[in-house]
Amino acid sequence: MSRAIDETHDASRRSWVESANRAGCDFPLQNLPFGIFRRRGADEPPRAGVAIGDRIVDVTACQTTGLFTDSAATAAEACTEPTLNRLMALGPDAASALRRELWRLLLDGDERVRAHADWETRLVPGMATAELFCPAEIGDFTDFFSSLHHATNAGRLFRPDNPVLPNYRHVPVGYHGRASSVVVGGTAIRRPAGQTMADDSDQPVFGPTKALDYEAELGFFVGRGNALGSPRDIRDADDCLFGMCLVNDWSARDIQKWEARPLGPFLAKSFATSVSPWIVTFEALAPFRVPPSARPEGDPAPLAYLDHGPASERAGVDVRIEAYVSTRNMRASDIPPARLSLGHARDLYWTPGQLLTHHASNGCDMHPGDLMGSGTVSGPERENEGCLLELTRGGREPVTLPGGETRRFLADGDEVILKGYCEAEGFARIGFGECRARILPAQANS
Ligand code: MN
Repeated sequence: MSRAIDETHDASRRSWVESANRAGCDFPLQNLPFGIFRRRGADEPPRAGVAIGDRIVDVTACQTTGLFTDSAATAAEACTEPTLNRLMALGPDAASALRRELWRLLLDGDERVRAHADWETRLVPGMATAELFCPAEIGDFTDFFSSLHHATNAGRLFRPDNPVLPNYRHVPVGYHGRASSVVVGGTAIRRPAGQTMADDSDQPVFGPTKALDYEAELGFFVGRGNALGSPRDIRDADDCLFGMCLVNDWSARDIQKWEARPLGPFLAKSFATSVSPWIVTFEALAPFRVPPSARPEGDPAPLAYLDHGPASERAGVDVRIEAYVSTRNMRASDIPPARLSLGHARDLYWTPGQLLTHHASNGCDMHPGDLMGSGTVSGPERENEGCLLELTRGGREPVTLPGGETRRFLADGDEVILKGYCEAEGFARIGFGECRARILPAQANS
């Protein structure tokens, strides 16, 4: 069982990479998330890396140097491509073997990496010198709606008396997103144009959205796939998930409002989705698995194919996700980014395993590198609301930022920063890093 808690999660162990031991570091020895990077300006293809403190282990360079053995070497062999898809396809034991070997190599006292004179530039370069890429070739992207709090708050804006439709408590509701426009954090987002219908008009217009929003979400990357026509059992679902990242599901609310009925979101979402560059493996998340949030009194139990059974105790995951905004004026006045929301993945109605199982339950084939979004992670309190649609009550109640500016929705030049981390008593804090992106003005011709 590759996802048990073991010595790699031991909070007392430290790395010889000193920055990894600092309080609040997202990438301590206990994490070791995978990503794709290249040294800035270097004439080399993007390759797999593993984050440790403020450095990146170059998996390919370490493999060439002969630092990996046995199954770790086999897994490292799959890391020579500019995406993590091959590593994901090998299943959880391969990534686990590589993570374990890296843990030993980076453990305080181990000299094998530093025995190489050029280790600082070739084997474990500084993250500040690296360019980060989308970690996988994402064949398909599906976004769910797994926060009942978000579904209720968003639904109330459109249907005050009946915010949550009856199917919600039985079916993990989702829609097919657009994989081609998923971009890695750091990529600027162009304000989209689209068709909207103002409340006081009977004629739609085409132009830049006036209601650009973020959605703070978690992303789940599929590891081992399933063949077309072969659903998977919920007991195997966790082993088919590679890891998690942060997702910003940018949304144009005015376009969404006009286009979404009856078939759901389309161009209001497909213009861009940002993902964080580092994928935290489910193995690293082992200390942070929790039971799914208790269903409200009177809600139905999940149908048998979505019932985790005894494994339910560890079927949820306790990740905190924060959203910050930094406006052009705030940056000019040296005002730090302002926190808009803090959500908890433990509040989600559906677990990652239930999302995957449901997605494949009709025989739909899932492939390594496919991405599933949780949907906006919101919770019971106002501060837990993970998008401006909720925070401003559909744009009616603007939020006030430090410096005095207000926002109903995002303005050009605004930068949205998502951060995620896990904390549990007795374990080292691990983080997801950031998913950061700035809004560019709409194209002049739109
Ligand atoms: Mn979404």
